Amino acid sequence: MQHEEYDILITGGLLLTMSGDTEMVKDPVIGIRSGRIESIKKSHAHPPHLFRAKELIDASGCLIMPGLVNTHTHLPMVCFRGMADDLPLMEWLQNHIWPAETRHVSREMVYAGSMLAMAEMILSGTTTFCDAYFYESSVARATLASGMRGIVCQGFIDLPEENTPSRIIEIAERFIDRWRDKSPLLIPALACHAPYTCTEGTLVCIKSVARKAGVPYNIHVSETKEEVEIIRSRHGKSPLRYLRDIDVLDGHTIAVHCNWLEDDEIDILRTYGVKVSHNPESSLKLAAGIAPVPKLLRNAVVVGLGTDGTASNNDLDLFGEMDTAAKIHKMAQMDPTVMDAKTVVKMATIEGARVLGLDEQIGSIEVGKWADIIILDMMKPHWIPLFNPYSQLVYAASGADVTTSIIGGRVVMRNRELLSIDLPAVAREVKTIADAIAESIVSQPS
Ligand SMILES: [Zn+2]
Repeated sequence: MQHEEYDILITGGLLLTMSGDTEMVKDPVIGIRSGRIESIKKSHAHPPHLFRAKELIDASGCLIMPGLVNTHTHLPMVCFRGMADDLPLMEWLQNHIWPAETRHVSREMVYAGSMLAMAEMILSGTTTFCDAYFYESSVARATLASGMRGIVCQGFIDLPEENTPSRIIEIAERFIDRWRDKSPLLIPALACHAPYTCTEGTLVCIKSVARKAGVPYNIHVSETKEEVEIIRSRHGKSPLRYLRDIDVLDGHTIAVHCNWLEDDEIDILRTYGVKVSHNPESSLKLAAGIAPVPKLLRNAVVVGLGTDGTASNNDLDLFGEMDTAAKIHKMAQMDPTVMDAKTVVKMATIEGARVLGLDEQIGSIEVGKWADIIILDMMKPHWIPLFNPYSQLVYAASGADVTTSIIGGRVVMRNRELLSIDLPAVAREVKTIADAIAESIVSQPS
């Protein structure tokens, strides 16, 4: 008898594809070969004994779904988690985060923080992230070490203003060249912090490099009312209109937050194909604002979910983010029908992939896509009974329900054991860094 041969075979359970064609498959048999999903069949028609695989995963009693996509974060900031909470954004940035970054950010800190953050993401079901920070080459190295899929954005900010346009173009180009084509899991990209912290020259130069390289360009936009006022006083227009007028908006621009938008700015996002990263927990904690997501979705703007950094969230668990995203808009609009569970799960999977320009590759479980798959234990009490898997994922599940994670066909977590990261060693390194941070806070004159 001829057997179909695979690297990994997943059998049993319930498959939630997040693909329009076949939404759910009971008792599936999923074959993975060379990192990609090669076949999806039903076990009653194709019994598992007809297949051979190097690795068999029995998903009986489990939900199988695409790995989650975190469209915006600053991974190394795990080192600042809980350091300065309950403060307004500008005070938090200017008096706490920026001074700590000036003193403590180094290649080593960025690498150790990123590895801890990647452990946290894998353990809570995220398989792809988009990060923006400094020393981003260290994030790229950590991404390759952890086996995660990452868009790693070298960040630019003009505080203090020190770089000439030719210098920042050189830094940006060198970063892209260094990490391009290193691995299918790694995409180098670029980020400008915000319209109020970057000069027009920096915003335009970095966008020109991103355009030439065909990579995403990330930027925080209209996060707070204060930011909108700063840009209005400097340029006589709102942040988004300003960014449009200096020609940095297009389908590869990811506008993060967008908490304060006027109706015609939603038209700008749609017209230019700008993607939006919605980070509700960070914006709630900083009382920065609530993005008009239901209105963005009604106007065909692509929106994905992000956690932002852990200094403002304070975790990287997208299950918590889904729960919050579903609820805040219901309250803000006094309408429990907006942001239904399925819409929110899409934002954390296929729509997140679309934000990152990766929807042809990941974000759903379909033949030909990369095998980025998570498996959740449905036997836990909060999963029973199961009428609607979307509702369970958004309103009842947590990242701790994820037992197994596969990224690009590599099992990076099995039965909640991390296989690509030595978590105790990474945790020790981050604790040592945090001890130095704590000491410097204590020794500062008040
Ligand atoms: Zn951010």
